[in-house]
Amino acid sequence: MSFQGPIKISPRLQEQAERAREINEANKTVEPISGPRSVALPPDYTEERFYAAAATLRKLIGNENVDIVDQPLNDGWYLQHPKTHDAFQVLDQDDFVASCVARPRHTEDVQAIVRWANEYLIPLWPISIGRNLGYGGAGPRVRGSVVIDMGHHMNRILEVNEREASCLVEPGVTYYNLYDCLQAQGSSLWIDTPDLPGGSVMGNALDRGVGYTPYGDHWGKHCGLEVVLPDGSLMRTGMGAVDGANTWQSFQHGFGPSVDGLFSQANNGIVTKMGMWLMPSPKSMQAYQISFKREEDLGAVCEALRPLMVRGVLGNVPSLRHVLQEAALHGNQRTYYKGPGPIDEETTEKIAERFGGYWFLYGCLYSDEDSCDHLVDVVRDAFTHIPGSAFYKSDDTPEDSYIRTRIQIFSGQPNLRELGWVNWVPDGAHLFFAPISPITAKDAEKQFKMVKERHRQYGFDCFSTFCVGPREMHHICCIIYNKADPKHKWGAYRMLRDMIRDAGKEGYGEYRTHISCFDEVMKVYGWNNNAFLKFNETIKDALDPNSIIAPGKSGIWGRRFRGKGWELWGDETRSVPAERDGSLSRRINIEERL
Ligand SMILES: Cc1cc2nc3c(=O)[nH]c(=O)nc-3n(C[C@H](O)[C@H](O)[C@H](O)COP(=O)(O)OP(=O)(O)OC[C@H]3O[C@@H](n4cnc5c(N)ncnc54)[C@H](O)[C@@H]3O)c2cc1C
Repeated sequence: MSFQGPIKISPRLQEQAERAREINEANKTVEPISGPRSVALPPDYTEERFYAAAATLRKLIGNENVDIVDQPLNDGWYLQHPKTHDAFQVLDQDDFVASCVARPRHTEDVQAIVRWANEYLIPLWPISIGRNLGYGGAGPRVRGSVVIDMGHHMNRILEVNEREASCLVEPGVTYYNLYDCLQAQGSSLWIDTPDLPGGSVMGNALDRGVGYTPYGDHWGKHCGLEVVLPDGSLMRTGMGAVDGANTWQSFQHGFGPSVDGLFSQANNGIVTKMGMWLMPSPKSMQAYQISFKREEDLGAVCEALRPLMVRGVLGNVPSLRHVLQEAALHGNQRTYYKGPGPIDEETTEKIAERFGGYWFLYGCLYSDEDSCDHLVDVVRDAFTHIPGSAFYKSDDTPEDSYIRTRIQIFSGQPNLRELGWVNWVPDGAHLFFAPISPITAKDAEKQFKMVKERHRQYGFDCFSTFCVGPREMHHICCIIYNKADPKHKWGAYRMLRDMIRDAGKEGYGEYRTHISCFDEVMKVYGWNNNAFLKFNETIKDALDPNSIIAPGKSGIWGRRFRGKGWELWGDETRSVPAERDGSLSRRINIEERL
């Protein structure tokens, strides 16, 4: 697959995309293309048997829709990303890698693929777009799985219901596709986009991603699924189960057990259609930034935030960002620091002086009245008691201030500026550590101290952002590492593991994690002798007796894989059990790697 050609993106983002590609190219020190390689076979397969199985698959969905992954792997970059593996790898580039990529044309093809997989006992890994960077990209958890590129052909916006403010989409609809479609129709509805708009509306919601308008809880705003089950049959959830219903995108719960959750961060089916609610544009909005002078202000900010969130005064998902995250949008590590290793405290202080604070709260107020001024006063007053804090409306900030970009995200307009921080170090890649925290001083301070100490120990700059929900915060900690430097990469991975364990000991669990850490995070959710995991395993085994769909997703393994060496606990260099991977010693001396 070539990544050199034109970038396929909406015209309004073309220039920004070209610029982002240039910066990304300039940040590369090595061309991350692997050498000649043989195909990563599915478990228990010989090459001959695999090619025979693939030939059958070609007959089912068309020769042109099946690619055997036997070419060098190319990491590409965000907008020209691989569907074959994780572009931000933490183990070997050739580890979380597909044997083959299949591109179904329609739901019947998906059903045919699932039946084929049951017959041949080949694991499948469905992706919608596969831009799950920081969480595993397009890479399958089981090496040699068939990646199902759901979005390649199945990319239609099936319906936009202006009156009820909802839509029905297929997997390949990106945020910018949906935005462009609404614009073209002259719709007054808004989408809610994550920081970057290249992901799939469906894929992001299924992985419970977040955006930043009042509709930022994407899974919470979905309404109705169509799913191919592990036996190849087709089901609709919610009101979609009623024949001829015209309420599929109107009422989330339907009748009887609510089963939608079994398909989110899960491996019980392949979603082919999803309903989403859209946001009616408000009459007025006001984006704001509040800066806080001292790192120790974190606790006071959280205490002031909580009542505003609980009472619903702050309508959107505000984010509280550390100054290094801010700095990373204006330059890379070398812009600020020439010393070895991560930026020291003294330099961080200077950066904070330059940007006007250690923490920045970005939020937006919305109103159906002519102005938001009454809300602005409430928010401003809530933080004035914190010495040195400064409130700015977006228009009162410098031309290049971040809030002036953020305002687009706050009004559902795709933007690519966030791509910038990934280039903090050469050959930049990142992992997300994302524990949930109550909105309290005690918890936020404890979590921040924990991650800061681990970053210092492992020699990384610490990028913390708290994305604030109605009753909790997603503490998103971006571990930016040089993926061309094996020690740096390994350090990032080890640190992520340590932070998951540290957090678990204090009673904090992650909302989402990288494919390599599924088992580790699921272990944290182990209350009462792993009752939650056991429940999910029971469902998995009942629905998917051949363990076909995404084995290992969220640490849930079907019985064909469970307890047979596929789980990863951190001291492995490969994801494949040692006895299947004779060429490489799987367990390693950790100290030697660091
Ligand atoms: C700089 C940067 C900033 C980011 N900011 C954000 C942010 O603000 N918010 C956020 O949420 N994320 C963020 N991300 C992470 C990521 O890019 C997005 O979450 C992205 O939307 C996920 O990729 P995707 O939409 O292509 O989903 P996919 O990769 O297609 O899907 C994600 C997962 O969902 C499952 N899945 C997908 N489709 C199906 C299907 N049809 N059936 C069954 N299972 C399926 C699979 O397990 C898959 O691995 C950021 C990443 C970067 C690099």
